[in-house]
Amino acid sequence: MAAGRDSGAADTPTMRQYLEFKQQVPDAILLYRMGDFYELFFEDAIRAAEILELTLTSRNKNDPDPIPMAGMPHHALEPYLLRLVEAGCKVAIVDQIEDPAETKARGDKLVARDLVRVVTPAVPWSPDAVDARERCWLAGVAVEGRGGGRLGIALLDVSTGELRVTEVEDAEAAARELAGHAPRELVLHPAVADLAPLAALARGLSTTVPAPAAFDREVAEQRLCEVLHVADLLGYGAAELGPALCAAGALVAYVRDTARVDLSHVTRLDIYAVTGRMVIDPATRRNLEILRPLWGTGRKGTLLGLLDRTATAMGGRLLRDWLSAPLVEVPAIQARLDAVEALQEPSLRASVRARLRLVADLERLGSKVAQGTASARELVALRGSLEALPGLAALVDPLPALAPARCADPLPEIAADIGHWLVDEPPIALTEGGMIRSGVHAELDEVLDLARQGKGAIARMEARERQRTGIQSLKVKHNKVFGYFLEVTQANFDRVPDDWMRKQTLANAERYITPELKDFEEKVLGADERSKALEYVLFTELRQRVAAQVARLQAAARGVAWLDVVASLAEVAATSRYVRPVVDAGDRLEIMAGRHPVVESMPMDEPFVPNDLVLDEGRRLAILTGPNMAGKSTVMRQAALIVLMAQCGSFVPAAHAHVGVADRIFVRVGASDDLAHGRSTFMVEMSETALILNQATRRSLVLLDEIGRGTSTYDGLAIAWAVAEAMHDQVGARTIFATHYHELVSLSEDKEHVSNLHVAVSEWGEQIIFLRRLEEGGASQSYGIQCARLAGMPAAVVARARELLAELERRPRHGPPTRQLGLFAPAPKQAPAPPPGPSPVEAALSAVNPDELTPKAALELVYRLKSLER
Ligand code: ADP
Ligand code: MG
Repeated sequence: MAAGRDSGAADTPTMRQYLEFKQQVPDAILLYRMGDFYELFFEDAIRAAEILELTLTSRNKNDPDPIPMAGMPHHALEPYLLRLVEAGCKVAIVDQIEDPAETKARGDKLVARDLVRVVTPAVPWSPDAVDARERCWLAGVAVEGRGGGRLGIALLDVSTGELRVTEVEDAEAAARELAGHAPRELVLHPAVADLAPLAALARGLSTTVPAPAAFDREVAEQRLCEVLHVADLLGYGAAELGPALCAAGALVAYVRDTARVDLSHVTRLDIYAVTGRMVIDPATRRNLEILRPLWGTGRKGTLLGLLDRTATAMGGRLLRDWLSAPLVEVPAIQARLDAVEALQEPSLRASVRARLRLVADLERLGSKVAQGTASARELVALRGSLEALPGLAALVDPLPALAPARCADPLPEIAADIGHWLVDEPPIALTEGGMIRSGVHAELDEVLDLARQGKGAIARMEARERQRTGIQSLKVKHNKVFGYFLEVTQANFDRVPDDWMRKQTLANAERYITPELKDFEEKVLGADERSKALEYVLFTELRQRVAAQVARLQAAARGVAWLDVVASLAEVAATSRYVRPVVDAGDRLEIMAGRHPVVESMPMDEPFVPNDLVLDEGRRLAILTGPNMAGKSTVMRQAALIVLMAQCGSFVPAAHAHVGVADRIFVRVGASDDLAHGRSTFMVEMSETALILNQATRRSLVLLDEIGRGTSTYDGLAIAWAVAEAMHDQVGARTIFATHYHELVSLSEDKEHVSNLHVAVSEWGEQIIFLRRLEEGGASQSYGIQCARLAGMPAAVVARARELLAELERRPRHGPPTRQLGLFAPAPKQAPAPPPGPSPVEAALSAVNPDELTPKAALELVYRLKSLER
């Protein structure tokens, strides 16, 4: 880049210093402090000027080759930083680290500067820059040896100090695991950065690929030991780990050494096994709208939005984690369900939730305390939260089901320490005093007393002088420039005694000082300054004492977050009429009177119709047919959501549910059903379906919604048919296949474990009425034309479509594939066999109930029958 040149405007001591810093962080936008401004140069200036709408100028305008430059006032740094990071930039901040006066005293011209922080999407300026209920994951991926072996994943949430690691078999699994965490930023080993699944994930994310040395195993262990203050990692059970530690080491280097963020709030290494979790691939995650809606933003219409009644931000974040990674081990699921059940007791639940509301975000407060950025107000909030813990413990401790929430250690001495020192409502600023209680520190009391005495003496003097001079309006005032002074209004100028010294004349007042006043002033101001400085010291000492306990604080926070999540699930269960599912290791799925949790919670014109669904040994594969808009997609998704909720430990929207644990859930939606999402081409649909055939097991739950739709009818039917066969013959997963290809209905004649379901509709003349009822057997026809009519298609077009349909039905065409014919048999060219079954006229007649016909409908029927005549 242009910054490389060393002549002209760039060749000044300042610009040389600038370029040295720039070299350290070439991929970051560099903010360079000059006096009251942060300046940007070269490409950085151009880019930032565009993002921030700053005025672009240039340094050294007369130079033939001027340097582009932009700047922002230093006090406006935070909002600008936020916008740059939101635009996906990394931002490096170079500050002046000495007073320019010191520079002069040294006889130097160049102010000493240092790179103090690099701010990135996952390493924000402050934990407050991240929405309280959002995660802030930075993810690292490393690989064993030179690649080809296992992959290690590390995840660090800088806002809370959580560090977790795991290892997986391949890049596919790594990408899946990462997607579940939705990281804001990636740090990838060069050997994995180009692997397709990871490269796809990295698209659109801020990604750094450091040199392989950053992932060195030994250095990684050393770094982790430093951060965790341990001699070795054996206590964490890390002996078995390889690439996971390398990934964690690279993250520490990135955050601590490059971004220069203090990691004293990282107190544990959490090693987790992906095998204990249900695997949910990104397409399924999206289609089920677990955390994000398919369309739009926010949480409306998502499972998270529905289930999140947590009282604390910690609980909100943990619920997100639970929904992202449901469990597969029955005892672990039962333990959560036990807790939700215990909290069904209304008064217990109400008390628990009321107390949870008193608890602030202990995790992020803990981070700030450990990093030395917590304010006095935040310490007071911390105290209030800690004081709420014993009340929670009294409710929770007697109940074995709530054991994980038991906080053996509510840190009473920390709450007491904060309560002892800090007033209940300290000011925002840390340097203006007013934070420390009186009566807790003798020296502080003495200094404050001096200041108070001085102020009292000044007040007494004011009264005395008022009497002596007879100036009733006489006031002693104070400002930063002149200190204390006596102010006299114009009307009283002639009463001013000789021993006052005039200091300043205003439009209609004069200001005076006296030696006595200046004497008091010195005492007051001196004492004031000393008390403020002393308060600051006492405050930081307190903060350090709390910081030393941050690991205990985090442990307490985990208990509270857990309790908050189960209480939230219990609340939703109670208010939405959910039941406790029966969960076991079998492979039965039985849902009685199940509802779609999100759809039923939305305002609707019609009441939600519950449905039964059983998938078991006899029915591994259900072919689900029914007209458009009948409710096929809804009933399938509701099954998936019920299984997912159950395995998260939640009660479920049904009258009864029996869930044999699923190791994975796959949900695929045919291309044309997902067009608005923009990415679902037919190819994507096919590759996603291929993935299922390769990865699903007998224990999986597979939902295929209109697969094979994005291509021509015969292609589509052929693909749908072959996929269904493969699911049945080879995979054997519990599967529901919703399709508009009625031909698939005949699969059940052939295949032992296939059966048909349809969503029932009834006809009323030319109307169809959606019953929303799931029934055995296949749908008889597709009702496409009735749907078109319902959708407001012009009557003439509907009539023409009817005509064409009748025409098509009269013509030779494929019958449904039969065993004898086989699906791929060529279409009969001539001598069509007579169409099987009743003729169109007969069919239309059999659908009519004469007793229900109005005279007008009867006449219409005659016309219709006439048009169907062969
Ligand atoms: P399909 O997939 O068969 O075309 P959908 O599942 O998309 O149909 O359902 C269409 C609409 O019908 C949904 O948006 C929903 O509002 C409504 N619906 C679906 N199932 C039910 C039900 N069981 N009870 C009430 N309304 C339902
Ligand atoms: Mg559908």
